[in-house]
Amino acid sequence: MAALHARARSLSTAGDLSPRHRPAPAELAALQRLVERLANTYPYHDAHYVGQVLKPPHPVAWAAYATAMLLNPNNHALDGGPATAEMEREAVAALSGMLGFEHALGHLAASGTIANLEALWIARQVRPGEAVLSAASAHYTHARMCSVLGLAHETLPVDQRGALDLEALEARLRRGGVGTVVATLGTTGLGALDPVSEIVGLCRTHGCRVHVDAAYGGFFALLADGRRPGVDPEPFRALATVDSIVVDPHKHGLQPYGCGCVLFADAAIARHYAHDSPYAYFTSRDLHLGEISLECSRAGAAAAALWTTLQALPPTREGLGAHLTGGRQAALDVASALRGSGRVGLAAEPELDIVCSFALRPTATEVTAASEAAFDSLAAAGWHAAKLAVDARWLAERHPGIEPDAETVTTLRCALMKPAHLTVAPALAAALVAHLAPAAPPSATSDPGPRGA
Ligand SMILES: *Cc1c(COP(=O)(O)O)cnc(C)c1O
Repeated sequence: MAALHARARSLSTAGDLSPRHRPAPAELAALQRLVERLANTYPYHDAHYVGQVLKPPHPVAWAAYATAMLLNPNNHALDGGPATAEMEREAVAALSGMLGFEHALGHLAASGTIANLEALWIARQVRPGEAVLSAASAHYTHARMCSVLGLAHETLPVDQRGALDLEALEARLRRGGVGTVVATLGTTGLGALDPVSEIVGLCRTHGCRVHVDAAYGGFFALLADGRRPGVDPEPFRALATVDSIVVDPHKHGLQPYGCGCVLFADAAIARHYAHDSPYAYFTSRDLHLGEISLECSRAGAAAAALWTTLQALPPTREGLGAHLTGGRQAALDVASALRGSGRVGLAAEPELDIVCSFALRPTATEVTAASEAAFDSLAAAGWHAAKLAVDARWLAERHPGIEPDAETVTTLRCALMKPAHLTVAPALAAALVAHLAPAAPPSATSDPGPRGA
């Protein structure tokens, strides 16, 4: 808190380009109160925080954001920020390159939700009256945004890995009436990778579009090169063939909140944005970003921050990728330690940097009780995890020793997003075992471990 106080004081003179800016006493007092109120925040920057999907922005992103914000450009129109609009184009091109996606149209957005809303809006404009499908493991906002758009939405089941189930998809596509299928590259719950290549194959056979929500997992494309630590390259390779992609620089791209991104393969969709603004577009006949985005005002500072970050940390395994390898390796290490414990199970094998674990107990109810108790006792011990409710019958298929006596079962989810998670991986695994399964395993548990692992 003392560090935050000092920083707030020094920043109070930095928000104005005038050298004589002196903050008024009321402003300093207000900042003091702000810092006091911020005490009620979880320690997101600390390696012991493995709870929500939160990654502190890189200092260079912060500095770039603050610098550009002194001018407060608006990336809606070139009139509002020609320099930052240019940076947005370059940063968006760099993200497309990272994903191996030849984008024709793309831009930043306020968030992954808004970027997905835009992709679903285009899905509706291109295929009006046809349904959107996403898996039960997809982000909850897809169903909500379909309802905002008046689009029919249907939920598909997941397979053993927790990814979209291909058999169910094929059966549904055969019945017709589907316009777009949403695949997720890195589900928010388990970090599972949907089989994008097979999904694209089925969708092309049945004449429908594919949108990939890579809000969480998109940046793992940097580790999808067959090297270690790495991720399965196959679904990332298939990104070149999809219709649209969403990626969140404010998740794994080291950006402050307010930075999502949507990319489209077909430039012809630009016609759906056609509007005439009597206020906005004067200085240039070039396409203004506001003419190809759903939103109006957007922070030019967000584009400046992303652009500067990508200058300092290029989108390569050695550049920005170096900020993901530690977490990926940590997830592998924690999973392997938990597997060896014999007392704690894995809801799924980690495919990215998320590990979901639970006590091996004879019933779903007991598993949930152990997770609830461990969530609290881990927090008391300084470890902040999250809870993830999964379908009890789904879990029991992988772990036949558990009787699914309830609809859902609560597991503990650890998002190992920070490089520092690598150093705490052994301690975290030990803490999970000690808090989830403090006693020797109950004799009733005859869990043979994950199938096919
Ligand atoms: C986080 C997330 C979203 C929502 O993105 P926001 O930036 O939080 O709005 C959508 N889809 C997936 C897969 C996500 O992980």
